[in-house]
Amino acid sequence: MNLSNLDLLFAIGAVRRLARLARTIQASTISESLTKADRSPVTIADFAIQALLSNALANHAPNDVLVGEENSGALRDAEAAPMLARITEFVNSEVGGATADNVCEWIDRGAAEPGDRFWTLDPIDGTKGFLRNAQYAVALALIENGQVRLGVLGCPDLADPATGSQGAAGSILAAERGNGTWYQPLDESKALTQVHVSNVREGAQARLLRSVESGHTNTGRMGRIVETLGVQADPVLMDSQAKYAVLAAGGGDALFRLLNQHQLDYKECIWDQAAGSIVVEEAGGRVTDLSGVELDFGQGRTLAKNTGVLATNGHLHEAALDVIAKTA
Ligand code: AMP
Ligand code: MG
Repeated sequence: MNLSNLDLLFAIGAVRRLARLARTIQASTISESLTKADRSPVTIADFAIQALLSNALANHAPNDVLVGEENSGALRDAEAAPMLARITEFVNSEVGGATADNVCEWIDRGAAEPGDRFWTLDPIDGTKGFLRNAQYAVALALIENGQVRLGVLGCPDLADPATGSQGAAGSILAAERGNGTWYQPLDESKALTQVHVSNVREGAQARLLRSVESGHTNTGRMGRIVETLGVQADPVLMDSQAKYAVLAAGGGDALFRLLNQHQLDYKECIWDQAAGSIVVEEAGGRVTDLSGVELDFGQGRTLAKNTGVLATNGHLHEAALDVIAKTA
């Protein structure tokens, strides 16, 4: 690992701290959430983590831009005042002296326009996993000229990415372009070690990683893909980019993000893919869209020029693209 990259060290330190905070919040206030306009849930943890990362980034690199998933709109409603007060308490448990206005202001710095160089954050990727005590991830990445330069995934409930087992040891995975993907337990009980994707080359041997939410894929088409490849193993069902952590460490072999047949115009958000994609690529895997096109992170807040995502250990990529084309 390249310890001279100060951006990488910043990202690892911040994600480690915030992933631990997510776990603390999960243990104390699991039921508190709001529903966003797209009907997805957002929790105290999403807001507190975006506020804290935004503030930490302003100290690390005052001119750097943040593109975050959340904004404070719903928090400014009168009925959200108790929730905002709880968020402010958690923020103050980390930095001290912040007011509710500071918190909203820090969250809203994440509304910046993506430019040539920016950071992107999903404070809690897999909020539904967070709420059901399953997998979720704090995902942070730095993007330059449309390409991910570095990415860090903090997975508080992923005990071992090489097996995908759940547990409170937690995991952090960090990747820098050209310098590999590295894993450490979230509690730092072991040193950083480099991870690599699996060596599985036969579709029939592939272990697929799949979303828990069936609305985030096309289950019928997924069934046809499984059949055509001759996949034997049961899929690993997991929320969030924790799936990419497991793929990177060889605990699974392929992940298809197919389009839900009722949302064929769905475009992936950059914060849902940036950290996860570099973690897989730097571990030796491949990530493209469903047509084999590279992901283009230079198109704004979504991957507007891509359709779905295919992430594999690399060995299975061509066969997977083939089967996608055949089952279209
Ligand atoms: P997963 O944990 O794999 O189910 O993916 C979670 C992410 O899926 C969330 O962060 C959402 O931003 C994203 N998402 C929301 N709606 C859709 C959709 N219709 N298709 C694919 N992904 C979606
Ligand atoms: Mg997300």
